[in-house]
Amino acid sequence: MSISHAVHTDSYRPLDRSAPVFVAGRSGLVGSALWRLLKAEGFTSLLGPGSTDLDLRNRSAVFEWFAKHQPHAVILAAARVGGIKANDTRPTEFISDNLLIQVNVLDAALRHGVERLLFLGSSCIYPKHADQPIREEALLTGPLERTNEAYAIAKIAGITQVRSVRRQHGLPWICAMPTNLYGPGDNFHPEHSHVLPSLMRRFHQARIEQAPRVVNWGSGTPRREFLHTDDLARACLVLLERYDSDSPINVGTGEDLTIRELSDMVASAVGYEGAIEWDPTQPDGTPRKVLDISKIAALGWTPLIKLPDGIAETYAWYESTGPGGARLPRQ
Ligand code: GDP
Repeated sequence: MSISHAVHTDSYRPLDRSAPVFVAGRSGLVGSALWRLLKAEGFTSLLGPGSTDLDLRNRSAVFEWFAKHQPHAVILAAARVGGIKANDTRPTEFISDNLLIQVNVLDAALRHGVERLLFLGSSCIYPKHADQPIREEALLTGPLERTNEAYAIAKIAGITQVRSVRRQHGLPWICAMPTNLYGPGDNFHPEHSHVLPSLMRRFHQARIEQAPRVVNWGSGTPRREFLHTDDLARACLVLLERYDSDSPINVGTGEDLTIRELSDMVASAVGYEGAIEWDPTQPDGTPRKVLDISKIAALGWTPLIKLPDGIAETYAWYESTGPGGARLPRQ
């Protein structure tokens, strides 16, 4: 596979604010941030059917929907996502659902001649032992992390499909690879969610129940990078309007911290003061995945939300939303 790494910083191709834009996955963590941003940016014809109105795994339903609504642009933010345990224990759903969603949406978008499309992947597509910070060129250069291999391979298939459409049909579709994301509207399920909301919920409950100790997973030594979804949403718009290359492009902060450091930060935001222990029988996952963000930085985008501020804001949302002081978990 040969990848051209050209970044065309000079061509600004604004999206038509009145044309229909389909935010696939509109009610999810990323989709809801995109929706907020695009509304604020003056988009007047946003399309975001919920999963009960349109199951993206249903091919004929997706094709019918595209025929009816004729979107001008598509942001593919719909995916089955989850934390390390969900990925590790339910790989079948992660590969199957994600492949179905992607193939259906990308095929329907091609059939209906959608001009502008952004496919969202994940930093887990890169090899487990990629050089850090990870450059886009690391794609497909080594073995993947086992715990999320099924999800990563589905996302790599999506990148390959987008690149195939570019090559064969000449459409300027693009792929972005965000790092670990967080923000309001996240999934706070105790077992299935990602580390940041998991820790927030665990510390919240421990504080309320005055528990003397909590137990987190793994060794706490892996390093991770966290990006607020409002920063990602801004990046998506910048990319749709300024980026045109068959290389996926990283979106992150370029800064990481250990899971222990994250844990201390979340405990402090929540006000939990008890003991924090670690369960080494739980998987650590990849040792480190911090992204090289020089390509997107060259387009003029930079993250604005500092991690402690984003955590405080997300906790305020968590505390205030839903019954019992904290929203019920989503599956
Ligand atoms: P990953 O980035 O794909 O590995 O996904 P996660 O966000 O689920 O996990 C990141 C890291 O946090 C891993 O090293 C986990 O072992 C660690 N971790 C510690 N406690 C928790 C927890 O309660 N939930 C989750 N999901 N991860 C945890």
